[in-house]
Amino acid sequence: MNWLISANATIYDHASSFEHFGFVDWRQGNGKFKENDIIYIYSTRPLKKIQYKCKVEKIDLPFRDIRNDQEYWVDKNEFQKSLEGKFMRLVLIEQVDNSKMSLENLLLNGLKAAPQGPVKPNENLIKYIESNFNDLNQNDIYPEMVNEDSHAYEGIKKQVFVNKYERSSIARNKCIEFHGTACKICNLDFSKLYGDIGKGFIHVHHIIPIHKIGKQYKINYKEDLIPVCPNCHAMLHRKVDGKELEIEELKFIIECNSIQAVEN
Ligand SMILES: [Zn+2]
Ligand SMILES: [Zn+2]
Repeated sequence: MNWLISANATIYDHASSFEHFGFVDWRQGNGKFKENDIIYIYSTRPLKKIQYKCKVEKIDLPFRDIRNDQEYWVDKNEFQKSLEGKFMRLVLIEQVDNSKMSLENLLLNGLKAAPQGPVKPNENLIKYIESNFNDLNQNDIYPEMVNEDSHAYEGIKKQVFVNKYERSSIARNKCIEFHGTACKICNLDFSKLYGDIGKGFIHVHHIIPIHKIGKQYKINYKEDLIPVCPNCHAMLHRKVDGKELEIEELKFIIECNSIQAVEN
């Protein structure tokens, strides 16, 4: 089931909350949401556009089971009121900032009125909305597919956690804005090698020691994320003696091997 719900940034700062955690525990209200439903979030004035696509991970969470997100409540009265409600956990799948998702364009493509309560979009509207998501960079092979050892629980937990940021467009944009699009390990720049088709293509790797991973971890976009090419990315996630390589270790390996190649 797909839903369209609206978010008012003067009540709750959902943008920062998604940015820092990759999910929001959302007040369910009267919506008949189910686990695995897809939810599009429409940001009300002044933005007036759909910006987020999420998946319902859990429903009917009581207040005591949700992440402490008091700091994101702009309207403290609403926060007080929310204590009694039920929550659903919305995990961010993708974020876009695209004028095709403006209220104006949504109205032209099947939306009846600016969404307030939860709305079930019709088939055509869903198609239109979906056509504006799908970041091409998100659809290629990610390291989880080349990682041989993901059976251990810690491994799975870490993978899910890491991929949350590696797959988020917000994280990508922030990382690229700061570091550029060349691989931080081997310096490969896709636009230099492939021309136009390679422009803007790069993976994002999330550097974070496993012991720091927990519920309240807050990402630091400058330090925790780096752009890497898919080859280096796969090598970073490939375990050597059960352990993933550090950035500096992988750089050193490349350096040693290129010196050897010259000598031979
Ligand atoms: Zn590389
Ligand atoms: Zn990675």
